[in-house]
Amino acid sequence: MGTSPQDREHDDPAAAMDTRHRVRLRRFYMAVASYALWGGIAVIAWLGGLIVMPPALLATALSGVVLSNLVFWYLLRSGRSLLYEDPSLTFPQVLVAMFWVLIVIGASHTDRSLMIVVYVVIMLFGIFRLDRRRFFMLTAIAMAGYAVVVATDLAIRDVEINYFQEFMRFLVLASCLLWCTFFGTHVADLRARLRKQNLALQQHVKDARRIADRDHLTWAYNRRYIMNALEEERARSEHRHAPFAIIIFDLDHFKSINDRYGHIAGDRVLTKFAEIARREMRAADVISPGRRANAFGRFGGEEFIALLPETGLEGARLCASRLRTALATEHFEQGIRVTFSAGIAIYRHGETVEQCLRRADDALYRAKNSGRDQVFTEKTARRGSRDAKVISISPSGD
Ligand code: GH3
Ligand code: MG
Ligand code: MG
Repeated sequence: MGTSPQDREHDDPAAAMDTRHRVRLRRFYMAVASYALWGGIAVIAWLGGLIVMPPALLATALSGVVLSNLVFWYLLRSGRSLLYEDPSLTFPQVLVAMFWVLIVIGASHTDRSLMIVVYVVIMLFGIFRLDRRRFFMLTAIAMAGYAVVVATDLAIRDVEINYFQEFMRFLVLASCLLWCTFFGTHVADLRARLRKQNLALQQHVKDARRIADRDHLTWAYNRRYIMNALEEERARSEHRHAPFAIIIFDLDHFKSINDRYGHIAGDRVLTKFAEIARREMRAADVISPGRRANAFGRFGGEEFIALLPETGLEGARLCASRLRTALATEHFEQGIRVTFSAGIAIYRHGETVEQCLRRADDALYRAKNSGRDQVFTEKTARRGSRDAKVISISPSGD
């Protein structure tokens, strides 16, 4: 019954998805901040004459940067990116960023080496998401792009090329990109391993929580869980002004079953009873939005309890009768006959869980005193009449 945000995420895949998408958006905003930083630097370099391009081309390039990011923002913000294999759109984002850097590199004549740094920064963004294949693809694309720029210089521009310098730049660029690829892949592997371990851990926590909530013999909810559930339901009932019902069941003459057939057989009876009860509780459940499911638990020994949210006296009585009928037609080993007595109480506005339990217990006590194998409510008890006919008060078939 976890209530922390992490618990909610573990239990609710939609919440986990929401969180992941928020992280994607945050990453995108980080990329936008980087664009602003490097765009500003590019403008300074342009003003200082380090980047030579006509103002119209610079304006077009900057508008292109803004426009491409608006497209990414729309895809991420609207949730449309969730339709793609990688909803973070990391690969296309890195690709587009590299394209804009290439434009600036192509336009700058004097010191292209500086721009190589920007490639490294862009590749580092890939660490969040990219696999080895995509890293290599980006490296190849970046190298090819740079080769095209140099080739264009050779073919169209009338610039003198220092081949050794170009070779060294190419070497540095290739080394940086390959370093990013290996480093990025290593980090991506670590992240993948961590994610796997995290998932395994989450599963273990889930399993542990399930075990902690259950009674080890019957696998019904244990007393601690049921008491918490009752407190929660009480709060909800106070808030919504909706009643809820408590039924306490106690198997009749269970001691005789133990004495006659042995403790192990007694254990099996308890387990089977819990199984049938859980099935019947589920079948009697009225599913409605915001309502918690019926819960069935072992209170201790051969005493069980059911919590029926948003259920009145009639609903609870019907549910107990269903179980009584189901039990009467069930075949237990060695022909053991199993019956129960039950007491029902409906939560009253303003009372405590203990007060409500006490009233259910009183009704149960009266059911026992009136001959067992019966379902009593607070009202029945007061009238002294029975809700159900006795089928058998003997633990065995004889
Ligand atoms: P009543 O109809 O008045 O409820 O009589 P009863 O015999 O069912 O009630 P009583 O309280 O006298 O005896 C309950 C018995 O349940 C005694 C105890 O040994 C047995 N019991 C409690 N827990 C377990 C268990 O986990 N396994 C088994 N086999 N027996 C249990
Ligand atoms: Mg009993
Ligand atoms: Mg008992």
